Amino acid sequence: MKTFNPADNIQDLQYFGEFGGVNPSISDSSTYTFLSAKTMFDAFEGNAEGCYLYSRHASPSNLYLGQALAAMEGTETANVAASGMGAITPVLLQLCGMGDHIVSSRTIYGGTYAFMKNFMPKLGITTSFVDITKLYLVEAAITPNTKVLYCETVSNPLLEVADIEGLAKIAKKYNLKLVVDNTFSPLSVAPAKMGADVVIHSLTKFINGSSDTVGGVTCGTQEFIDQLRNVNNGASMLLGPTMDSLRAASILKNLRTLHIRMKQHSHNAMYLAQRFEQDGLKTVYPGLESHPSHELYKSMINPEYGFGGMMTIDAGDLHKANELMELMQERNLGYLAVSLGFYKTLFSAPGTSTSSEIPIEEQMEMGLTDGLIRFSIGLDNDIERTYTIMRECMEQVGVLAKTEVV
Ligand SMILES: *Cc1c(COP(=O)(O)O)cnc(C)c1O
Repeated sequence: MKTFNPADNIQDLQYFGEFGGVNPSISDSSTYTFLSAKTMFDAFEGNAEGCYLYSRHASPSNLYLGQALAAMEGTETANVAASGMGAITPVLLQLCGMGDHIVSSRTIYGGTYAFMKNFMPKLGITTSFVDITKLYLVEAAITPNTKVLYCETVSNPLLEVADIEGLAKIAKKYNLKLVVDNTFSPLSVAPAKMGADVVIHSLTKFINGSSDTVGGVTCGTQEFIDQLRNVNNGASMLLGPTMDSLRAASILKNLRTLHIRMKQHSHNAMYLAQRFEQDGLKTVYPGLESHPSHELYKSMINPEYGFGGMMTIDAGDLHKANELMELMQERNLGYLAVSLGFYKTLFSAPGTSTSSEIPIEEQMEMGLTDGLIRFSIGLDNDIERTYTIMRECMEQVGVLAKTEVV
């Protein structure tokens, strides 16, 4: 039996442009003509296969990109959105109504957290935030009104790993939908293959990889994606977070090199994580044996694509962290910027500011400290050279002791 390989699935798609182009033609239109009024009526009713009506409903370029991302995640289909948040918020609003409840990981993307914590209660939807690595806590938080279990495969910023198969079992037992944000681990992890019902990405990060646009996708069953797109009650359709066709076309082109990029991101991050750990720095990377979920994550990933490009180190305190980041930028090792998945290394200090529901003592215990620096490791060709310069920066600001020159 052929094993599931997301990059092969993307490679196996074949598209032709209108004039035999090797890239699909970009649909540069918001609306579409019909030869007969009857066909237009049928299209409104959703009964005119292959016909387009209006680009908020569907456009060829967006469908091509959605198809490629569905192939990557191994789901029936997918719906692209104008941003990651434009994918996440409609999914939650589609699955939950007044009085419903969500059980979510407490360490999730700040925007998703703010939506659940501050926005959804206005609609009568509440969320319990739990330590997702403890399945008994997840199960204990479920109420008769719970509809959704929500997590990120690898969480932001602490790189905690969700046991997706374990969570899927709980979701099944209580008839919940398991929604997984897989932004940090494209290709490496295929959550739908482990029982997730809906898989979401911010395309802004590794998948597009060039930090030139925001974008998002929801991968799921045809039935669920049809619900999101329903003209009468679909959250994606009615809230309107539609991706532009030109962007869909450019993201599709970048998607084709994702497998090569992920291998290099993972290779470089593993190298740096190992070196910094040896140097005595507190380093968090799922590829290190010291990571609390190393064995679990190892069993979840497709080893070809590695443990990913995200790692953290602890610089000791906020002042040192800031000094180090400014110096690393000066030495052109990367940029002091949020976001991830770029060809250059990006670093920022998430600090205690993004840390959701977690009491301060627990934050300390988890390693969510003021001196934490989150790295999205770039595609550097010579990572040894990068390490040498990074080490110099660390010595200069006193994060590492100066090495004796013999
Ligand atoms: C960036 C990010 C998002 C939000 O995506 P946008 O494209 O910025 O809207 C959601 N989840 C994760 C894990 C992210 O890193």
